Amino acid sequence: MSVGAGRVTFIGAGPGAADLITVRGARLLAHADVVLFDALTDPALRELAPRAEWVHVGKRGFCDSTGQTAINALLVKHALAGKAVVRLKGGDPSVFGRLEEELEALAQAGIACEVVPGVTAAIGAAAATQRPLTRRGGGRSVSLTTAMTREGALRASRSADTEVFYMAGKQLAALSRRLIAAGWPTDTPASVVSRAGWPDQLHSDHTVDSLGRAAMLHAGRPTVVTVGAGAVPIASGSTATTQRAHEPAMGSDAPAVEPRGKP
Ligand code: SAH
Repeated sequence: MSVGAGRVTFIGAGPGAADLITVRGARLLAHADVVLFDALTDPALRELAPRAEWVHVGKRGFCDSTGQTAINALLVKHALAGKAVVRLKGGDPSVFGRLEEELEALAQAGIACEVVPGVTAAIGAAAATQRPLTRRGGGRSVSLTTAMTREGALRASRSADTEVFYMAGKQLAALSRRLIAAGWPTDTPASVVSRAGWPDQLHSDHTVDSLGRAAMLHAGRPTVVTVGAGAVPIASGSTATTQRAHEPAMGSDAPAVEPRGKP
């Protein structure tokens, strides 16, 4: 485990605040000469590698293939120049992070790599809302699913007791229709969290058929939608400690807005 000359280390930055990076990730980041980073990573992470050259290569939403080719080329270029290269990705590098393309490009160039895991958005959202993704009894499986196909079409499924949808924030009403078509009962709980792990994180509760109402609240923010067993709040009287701030009622299932709680 090392960040050495001519090597590329992929590091998951976690979903939000800089202190959600792993200890291993932080330690290896400190040895980087060059850091290629995504838009979603916290600027405060720069303090962990102040002398490194930081290169912004992130794009929100779709990563077009030209952009990806350019990133691959940059990774190879810096590694071949003998630099200790860190590729810092939001969340976990292995989850919707285009890791396979970058690993392939480096393997083809004969460049050594290492991958350091991070907290993926689904896990960050589960922690932030105190909604365990697995539940004894009814929540035996979890699926991490992108709502978007490669061609930009929206797709939903019902393949696990808890299904967490990434990249659906712009199309929550359409996701609602697709989820019902995929067989989820209309009253299935759906928990929507945007900017999980950031100080301005928001959370709202819905059912599958009213998911569209979350669109305004979370507009323009990275959002995950947890559907099924893992979206159910734990019973009151439990050990939950975060305060919930409720919006004025807008209807029977008005979103419960929950900025990240102060202790
Ligand atoms: N590798 C990342 C995912 C990158 S894809 C990870 O493991 O989390 C980008 C999508 O991730 C966004 O469209 C959104 O659905 C989700 N996402 C990333 N950060 C998020 C955050 N802090 N809160 C909620 N969703 C987030």
